[in-house]
Amino acid sequence: MNETATRVYAEIDLDAVRANVRALRERAPRSVLMAVVKADAYGHGALACAKAAQEAGAAWIGTATPEEALALRAAGVEGPMMCWLWTPGGPWRQAVEAGIDVSVSGMWALDAVREAARAAGRTARVQLKADTGLGRNGCQPADWAELVGAAVAAQAEGTVEVTGLWSHFACADEPGHPSIQLQLTAFRDMLAYAEKEGVEPEVRHIANSPATLTLPESHFDLVRCGLAVYGVSPAPELGTPAQLGLRPAMALKASLALVKTVPAGHGVSYGHHYLTETETTLALVPAGYADGIPRNASGRGPVLVGGKVRHVAGRVAMDQFVVDLGGDRAEAGDEAVIFGDAERGEPTAEDWAAAADTIAYEIVTRIGGRVPRVYLGA
Ligand SMILES: *Cc1c(COP(=O)(O)O)cnc(C)c1O
Repeated sequence: MNETATRVYAEIDLDAVRANVRALRERAPRSVLMAVVKADAYGHGALACAKAAQEAGAAWIGTATPEEALALRAAGVEGPMMCWLWTPGGPWRQAVEAGIDVSVSGMWALDAVREAARAAGRTARVQLKADTGLGRNGCQPADWAELVGAAVAAQAEGTVEVTGLWSHFACADEPGHPSIQLQLTAFRDMLAYAEKEGVEPEVRHIANSPATLTLPESHFDLVRCGLAVYGVSPAPELGTPAQLGLRPAMALKASLALVKTVPAGHGVSYGHHYLTETETTLALVPAGYADGIPRNASGRGPVLVGGKVRHVAGRVAMDQFVVDLGGDRAEAGDEAVIFGDAERGEPTAEDWAAAADTIAYEIVTRIGGRVPRVYLGA
């Protein structure tokens, strides 16, 4: 362990990342895999995870922002890379020069990338995004003909090469949701139109982690997996990581800062929302909402201390929270596992999501910059 990482630290098992990439590739054997490493690889560390994913056969790396993609390129990550969340004035030229595929959902973006390609003196790799029903980013079906027409014209002038056609699901984490088939139909129609107009994409893709795990007909040429690469289940209804053949890569651990005996009827933490029922032992866990521990899980979040799962007693504060050890003994410096792998008897990110009334995506992604990452299997 890193000597500075004694308070609270996130242990990241890169062998788990590799194993998850291999497992996902087996789930989508006719497609290539894009490892999505946006938001610092959902809190796991973008550079280390991108490299591990490539070692395990991820053909593509995906990020949300161009800055995330450019940082990986600057750190030496090569190979196909794509980013999709652009605003006017973004680093279009740098992305074109770095050979990063850029996503275009509307005319303003196509104009920006053509200009950047001219300035860079090289052809931009562009993936056109269709809004097949998510209602977020992407080009509406009614605007598709205009966007495809302009992209084909840009291709003819040599500024742009359309390398991909893609979309994103709204409800892939709810198998059987009627929107799924409607989106697949809309996607096939929009693909057929673009291909009729002369677009010959390298990759067509719509599947995220839940679709990769549950919906083979959505796999097309490429699957874009984020959460599952990190061994976390996209939704409780889909199964636990173990049931999905995945291994959680992150374990969030802390060293107890203090253990003390308090009398019955003692209030615990801000607001005194917890009162000890009997004389008991309280353990202080030196991690709080500044570290990404959700305050919403006050009174509920599970923590493994001394071989037993306990729960947050009272409110999660900015830097600390307390667990009631119920009279069990422990010492300052003993390990507290906030979440990790259920196969080791540890609470999970999924458990914390349930306790905080959110999704496991948010639990791992919100682990803060103050928490050192300690890599295993590097
Ligand atoms: C985040 C994201 C993904 C990955 O989603 P997971 O459910 O984590 O696999 C895929 N595509 C887009 C557009 C995304 O924003």
